[in-house]
Amino acid sequence: MGYTAELRPDAPKSSARFGFTWPSKISLLCGVLSTPLSASVVVIGGGPAGLLAAERLAEAGHQVTLYEAQATVGRKFLVAGHGGFNLTNSEPLPDFAPRYGLQRTQFAEYLNYFSPNDLRQWAAALGINTFEGTSGRIFPTEEHKPAQLLRAWVERLQQLNVQLFTKHRWLGVTPNNGLLLRDEATGREMETQAAATVLALGGASWAKTGSDGRWASILEHIGIQCVAFAPSNCGAEVPWSAFFREKVGRAPLKNIALRCGTDTARGELMLTDYGVEGTPVYALTPALRAALAHNSTAQLVLDLKPDLSDAQLLEKLRKPRGGKSLATFLQQTLRLATPVPTLLREVAPAEALATPEALARLLRQVPLPVTSLRPLDEAISTAGGVAWEEVDEHLMLRRRPGTFVAGEMLDWEAPTGGYLLQGCFSTGAWVARGVHRWLTQQQ
Ligand SMILES: Cc1cc2nc3c(=O)[nH]c(=O)nc-3n(C[C@H](O)[C@H](O)[C@H](O)COP(=O)(O)OP(=O)(O)OC[C@H]3O[C@@H](n4cnc5c(N)ncnc54)[C@H](O)[C@@H]3O)c2cc1C
Repeated sequence: MGYTAELRPDAPKSSARFGFTWPSKISLLCGVLSTPLSASVVVIGGGPAGLLAAERLAEAGHQVTLYEAQATVGRKFLVAGHGGFNLTNSEPLPDFAPRYGLQRTQFAEYLNYFSPNDLRQWAAALGINTFEGTSGRIFPTEEHKPAQLLRAWVERLQQLNVQLFTKHRWLGVTPNNGLLLRDEATGREMETQAAATVLALGGASWAKTGSDGRWASILEHIGIQCVAFAPSNCGAEVPWSAFFREKVGRAPLKNIALRCGTDTARGELMLTDYGVEGTPVYALTPALRAALAHNSTAQLVLDLKPDLSDAQLLEKLRKPRGGKSLATFLQQTLRLATPVPTLLREVAPAEALATPEALARLLRQVPLPVTSLRPLDEAISTAGGVAWEEVDEHLMLRRRPGTFVAGEMLDWEAPTGGYLLQGCFSTGAWVARGVHRWLTQQQ
């Protein structure tokens, strides 16, 4: 059994350790503070990975305390909700696991343990039904907002007696092997001991949600190797001319294919004043990052008509143009509207538009030179984090037995489409299993 103690001897008596009463559902979401209790399992980080680990551990009968640095839990989860709230994906597991790239083998195991179906059932048990949208993406039904899911989830944690402390930042470990925390409301520091700890501190983007990656230096300080953070699922910068930026601004190109090296992605590309963004760009960020590591420019190649064969494309372009402008001709024959002609003139010399053959080649391979990825803080997710060599098969830190790591803070990345949240849920469930097993062995 653990204990919680204030470290600063001058701390006011009013911050006595006990006497915690469970706050109401609303006050929990608003981050009402109380004083930490002793705990057998401490979870740090109130994102989806930490909340699910806490829930599963409490269900297994453990006394769980969760600390969150922000005033409310699940801030990035709610941000994810603004953009469509894509909870998971219906893709079959053999295709799902490779979405996690080099970590596909481990993720196959985590996904088997807590699958996309399990996630849907879990949401349904909280009263949130889901449906399958286009390309297999799974969303909560129209009437269910992300905040509703989060509220129901916190209520569920409340029923399970999970102690939740917001505005409590984890600062590191103490010489006694304890956890050092700071109450952000009072500035008081305190130490708590736990039989097992789950770290679920998130990645390093959208710092305003609390996922600031500051934990990496804490872990490095105690000898845990972390891979440098890098933006994933983010926009890419293309050096447009001032004319193009002004004329085009923001414009979508629907139903395109985008290539970087040997990787290809389909979807809707968004031209922006800084370059390009959208699902296909996000999916290609690992390839772009790799290319930019060796060269000052990475090449994206845009296919504006991926559903037409070369012969079909050429046939359409060979139709007599008459006196029509390029813009009218492309619109009428290929349904390529503005800003396509402006884009073609921006990136290719006049001769590339001069003949049907040259134009067919260009429409198939519009070159988009990328000079960099957008800044880390803007990215939907981050690559980098706790190195895989640092954790065992239960996601327990090898150098710190009893401390487990879940969610985006591990060094993995996956495309958008529900794979990110699913990865966080599955690793959250997996560490709960690992903690349970560890505590059982310690008895
Ligand atoms: C704009 C946007 C849209 C997205 N859309 C989707 C989507 O549709 N589908 C999808 O699958 N994914 C989406 N994601 C990604 C998804 O939200 C994240 O992958 C997921 O929230 C990560 O979960 P996590 O639990 O690992 O970490 P987080 O959700 O980042 O939670 C970590 C928590 O730890 C807390 N914390 C950090 N340091 C400390 C500390 N020292 N002490 C105490 N607490 C600390 C943070 O405050 C935070 O609350 C989106 C992300 C963004 C930014």
